[in-house]
Amino acid sequence: MERKPNRTAAALLLVLLLLCGLFAGCQPAAEPAGPDAEGLYLCEKSFFAMDTYISYRVWGTSEEEAKDYGVLLEETFTRIAGMTDRFDPDSELSKVNAAGSEGLAVSAELLEMAELAIDWKVRTNGAFQVLLGSLSDLWNIGGEDPKVPEKTAIAAELQKLSEARLTLRGSVLSVEPEGVILDLGAVAKGYAADAAAKALRQAGCKRALIDAGGTVITIGTKTGGQLWTIGLQDPKEPQKLAGIIESADKALVTSGDYQRYFEQDGTRYHHIFDPETGYPANRLHAVTVLAESAALGDILSTALFVMGPEEGYQLACQLSSEGLAEVLFTLPDYSQKITPGWPGKR
Ligand code: ADP
Ligand code: MG
Repeated sequence: MERKPNRTAAALLLVLLLLCGLFAGCQPAAEPAGPDAEGLYLCEKSFFAMDTYISYRVWGTSEEEAKDYGVLLEETFTRIAGMTDRFDPDSELSKVNAAGSEGLAVSAELLEMAELAIDWKVRTNGAFQVLLGSLSDLWNIGGEDPKVPEKTAIAAELQKLSEARLTLRGSVLSVEPEGVILDLGAVAKGYAADAAAKALRQAGCKRALIDAGGTVITIGTKTGGQLWTIGLQDPKEPQKLAGIIESADKALVTSGDYQRYFEQDGTRYHHIFDPETGYPANRLHAVTVLAESAALGDILSTALFVMGPEEGYQLACQLSSEGLAEVLFTLPDYSQKITPGWPGKR
């Protein structure tokens, strides 16, 4: 299946770069790269992976160290992207899908993503459903000439989903019954961002900012111990900002109906599906999650988007009380609803 670069991701990248210039005190790329007041050198780049423009800023104690961190970040991200690319027949994920009920012994990383998917399917009452690969193919949202599928085709997918099982026995992952396709699109980018941040920390990096189109993760603080200032894209006018928040050592992940979609007869059909109806979830415009890990933020932003402003908000408040996540919901009238611990600045 054809994949097209994500234009909104490019817009988001622009927004973030502008923001960095305006608020985060980052240096424009053309200026000399350091050292700053703390003796750190900046390496700033962007690359393309997982259908998204990923921009990053990493700092090191020398120009060379900063560049090495950049290489490590790109390598880590690209490795996870390759592993979870279900449109590449040689990827580990495609091998799991090909093995079906036979099962396949998977890498520690794929295992961890599968465990997360299994756990959060339960905790989100089925809203998080990674076995909807063939439903997603049927809708073909990012592909050529997408159309609303026939009702009978959607019903057949719902029937398939009702029997779908993802099972882990030790490190052996199986997908059943035949025809069910595992799709890690709602967790892989967050997981890759976490893996990149972990690799950087282990290598000794003290400060970094990674923006993977709707998934922002930071290490350390800005110069002088100041918090990062991160812009929130306005779901109504994605080229504008709906607000800013300040954070450090956290991940900020957004799922929205404006990221990847087509329109038919005046209705917008986007890429986040309600496993109960087989149609794109339509209870919200966007969900932004602030969490320790980008993988969790990625899972929750998708799942809470599906669950909607009542059931989703209830779960979000519970997660807030457990210290796992804070959430901002953008409601159908574009007003916002936040969990009790959402950071003040909006
Ligand atoms: P993005 O990664 O584009 O920012 P999401 O994290 O919300 O957005 O992931 C959307 C992708 O997740 C879809 O393209 C599809 O592959 C998959 N997906 C869609 N609906 C669900 C769902 N209810 N549960 C799990 N995965 C989903
Ligand atoms: Mg997600």
